[in-house]
Amino acid sequence: MSEGKRQDPLHPKKGSEPGAEVVDPTQTFFNLAQHLQPGSVIADRYRIVEFLGIGGMGRVYRANDLELGQDIALKLIRPELLEDEDSTERFKRELILARQVSHRNVVRIHDLGEFEKLKYLTMSFVPGRTLKEEIRKSGPFEAERAIGVMTQICEGVDAAHREGVIHRDLKPSNILLDEQDRVYVTDFGIARSLDSDLTRTGMAVGTPAYWAPEQAAGESGGPASDVYSLGVIFYELLAGKPLRGPAAKALRELKQERPDLPAFLLALLTKCLAAEPDRRYEDAGGIVADLQERKVTERFLDRWGKPARGAAVLILGVGAVLLGFLWLVGGGRSAGQPPDAYSVVVLPFDNQTSDASFDWMEGAMADLFD
Ligand code: ADP
Ligand code: MG
Repeated sequence: MSEGKRQDPLHPKKGSEPGAEVVDPTQTFFNLAQHLQPGSVIADRYRIVEFLGIGGMGRVYRANDLELGQDIALKLIRPELLEDEDSTERFKRELILARQVSHRNVVRIHDLGEFEKLKYLTMSFVPGRTLKEEIRKSGPFEAERAIGVMTQICEGVDAAHREGVIHRDLKPSNILLDEQDRVYVTDFGIARSLDSDLTRTGMAVGTPAYWAPEQAAGESGGPASDVYSLGVIFYELLAGKPLRGPAAKALRELKQERPDLPAFLLALLTKCLAAEPDRRYEDAGGIVADLQERKVTERFLDRWGKPARGAAVLILGVGAVLLGFLWLVGGGRSAGQPPDAYSVVVLPFDNQTSDASFDWMEGAMADLFD
């Protein structure tokens, strides 16, 4: 176990921090970092190692868990976000849900704790950097690296979608990369659970630039909303800059700027970034499948969606029954006797859905007429 000097973080020893006053931490949250100096011990258990960064939810520190002797990430939540019972309850509910997600590409949440009236969250520490920093540093990803990273991101998000957990605030700074380019997605559900306090605090906890149109319009969003945010992230990964303006225009420009990109990647981005949720992938699992097969199946991109597919199946069924009936009447064949002649009724088939997966039928029927 580490033998760090246990210094009281809110009441530093005289002289250790010139000018530092002893103040109510809940009133001066944004100045609090100066109190959480390396070496400070939180809740008798976590020794602060370094300040990692600040986000909409609060400040994040690397700390050493003195019980377990390992480094963790400690996120100190802005107190104004958890002032009332309701938001605290909602936050806890999201946290309990998010804790159920266990996957190699998801940051593990450990605990929610309280220290001097401040709530904090502990989670596994990822040594490395955020995808935001990595894009800034290395510029647009070459195709193979992008596909590798995108697959891992989607696998992590898919694990959550399977548990019924929607992220709702996917963005490059919530994706961490270690030295081996292994991906860890963080902050499932919890950031946006605090966003209904938006009006009160006057500041969004989530990041609108990555939201799907329906989220921007005030809906909380489902798995397909995460798919849209993934599309925005993938664009940034390939373009080396955030998506601005209409997606269709940005994608056309990307195609010109990056002739090295395989066509399926652009098709995949287009499908993620569709304005209507039911024209996107249903969830992250669909993106994983296409990334693995390296092709985009347009199957569920028809204009009328599921009703059209249902209607097509119904028409086919009725057609089959009709064919059988006509065959029986026309053939006039008695049981056990070989027929004198077969009568076959061939009906032209026109795929009236825009579902390309039924196109083969048109071809098959046309062949019969030849
Ligand atoms: P945001 O996601 O809005 O950037 P966060 O409060 O979630 O803000 O995180 C702030 C910063 O802390 C991140 O940008 C990242 O650099 C760092 N960070 C967050 N979680 C971890 C973690 N589990 N391991 C290592 N660094 C982390
Ligand atoms: Mg975050």
